[in-house]
Amino acid sequence: MTIEQIFITPNKYSRPQTPLKTVKKIAVHYVGNPGSSAIANRNYFEGLAKSGARYVSAHFVVGLGGEVIQCIPTDEVSYCTNQANSYSVSIECCHPDSTGRFTPETETALAELCAYLCRKFSLSADDIIRHYDVTRKQCPLYWSPTRYTSAEVANARFAAFKARVRQLMGHENAAEDKPADGFFRVRVLDGELNIREQPSLTARVCGVIRDKGVYTIVETRHGGNILWGKLKSGAGWISLNSRYAKRI
Ligand SMILES: [Zn+2]
Repeated sequence: MTIEQIFITPNKYSRPQTPLKTVKKIAVHYVGNPGSSAIANRNYFEGLAKSGARYVSAHFVVGLGGEVIQCIPTDEVSYCTNQANSYSVSIECCHPDSTGRFTPETETALAELCAYLCRKFSLSADDIIRHYDVTRKQCPLYWSPTRYTSAEVANARFAAFKARVRQLMGHENAAEDKPADGFFRVRVLDGELNIREQPSLTARVCGVIRDKGVYTIVETRHGGNILWGKLKSGAGWISLNSRYAKRI
């Protein structure tokens, strides 16, 4: 899971830049527009700056192929989850059809994103909520009770997702205990360390590490006088310069 940050231009309809002082919940949504892409939904929020049609936005949008676009920094409020906006980070998910069911790629990326956010804000999988839990809106549709889906089935689907996030968090912690042969761990020292597609300063930036966390490196390479490390997640390469990362 790689987060691509394409922030919305500040504006009162979709990015008011109201500080989000505390994050207690992670709210999951479905876009309700079958077949639409992550970038199209992000661009819709952007367009509200001009059209002023309504007040709506989300921190993240997960696409049909598992791509993740961040629209708003997590220290600013989004307009997504009604009364929960002031204490939650919101995630909109794309879906291929009117059932609202996510693709396996979307669900995997969503689980990884939720695990990442739970760690970042010291939350547990039980702090993941549906829009339905806040307002009883049928969102995400596939995880909400409807005329066609009983509460029992909908709740079981959502519980299975949370169990997956819980497992992912457990596995990540376990993986950090003992790196495999030839791998090593680094602590990121920089608050904003770029992830690049290739071990080179001219390679495209495909993500940013902001949590100063511990990461496992599976391969190193020299590129342009810099030692680069390949992230175990497959997200890309980071500089191992001692200013940015420290081997532990
Ligand atoms: Zn919703």
